[in-house]
Amino acid sequence: PARILEGMTGVILGVANKRSLAWGCAKSLSDAGMRLAFTYANDRLKDAVVKLAAECEGSIVIPCDVTIPEEITAAFDGIKAEFGTLDTIVHAIAYAKREELQGNFFDTSKDGYMLAHEVSAYSLTAVTRAALPLMEGRAGSIVTLSYIGAERVVPNYNVMGIAKAALEASVRYLAADVGPRGIRVNAISAGPIRTLSASGVRDFSSILDQIAEKSPLRRNVTAEEVGDACLFLAGPHSRGITGTTLHVDGGFHIMGV
Ligand code: NAD
Repeated sequence: PARILEGMTGVILGVANKRSLAWGCAKSLSDAGMRLAFTYANDRLKDAVVKLAAECEGSIVIPCDVTIPEEITAAFDGIKAEFGTLDTIVHAIAYAKREELQGNFFDTSKDGYMLAHEVSAYSLTAVTRAALPLMEGRAGSIVTLSYIGAERVVPNYNVMGIAKAALEASVRYLAADVGPRGIRVNAISAGPIRTLSASGVRDFSSILDQIAEKSPLRRNVTAEEVGDACLFLAGPHSRGITGTTLHVDGGFHIMGV
């Protein structure tokens, strides 16, 4: 692949294993020449992230649980020490309690609601704020991962759909904030892909089956396809695009029935 991101740096938040959408994004960016910092959420994931990061030339690995403000600060201090500046953020983090991803949405607990929003939506704002000093003077790009459950009702997605709606609105507000600095913020609304997080959604397999049957491309998308959309949004070819949600879903979002 063309090394169009040579000389640029990025941080990837959200790799848990090789199936993670964050890893698909990391591969596309790294193959295009971007130097990457990987964050991991907790010690249980450290070894897996270190192992994957080793496949990306010049990468570093640092801890960052986004619910702990001090860890966000420390992570970006670490990136500053190693890279000096930062061009790209890939935010591929979400969490909701398993019991909130089934049954009626109205049964969502207050704690579960707050937690889903803290991890899945607010963290984008917290991370953007922490990263801004490093992105000063760079034509930076911030990319987050969303899902059509933000726009429409998807059975069992429940509180995560509400959090994704907040995330997509955050993309617009952040894009307006940082646009004057030359920094862009966009979301990729990915079709369903089998990952660790997806397995928490009750009946996820039936969602996959329906996309394969009904989407214009008559198939599900892959993490590599999401990664290549991320490459587009991170790189110079999307320089005129900010505040938008790009659907990478085989066209499913255009269908009425
Ligand atoms: P994944 O489980 O591989 O990744 C989720 C990541 O979130 C994990 O690495 C996990 O460690 C991280 N995370 C959770 N809580 C955290 C915290 N407190 N601090 C830091 N990190 C934390 O699953 P994925 O499907 O690759 O999810 C990545 C993103 O893609 C999520 O935002 C998800 O909602 C979104 N997405 C997924 C699908 C899908 O079908 N898989 C579709 C559309 C959007």
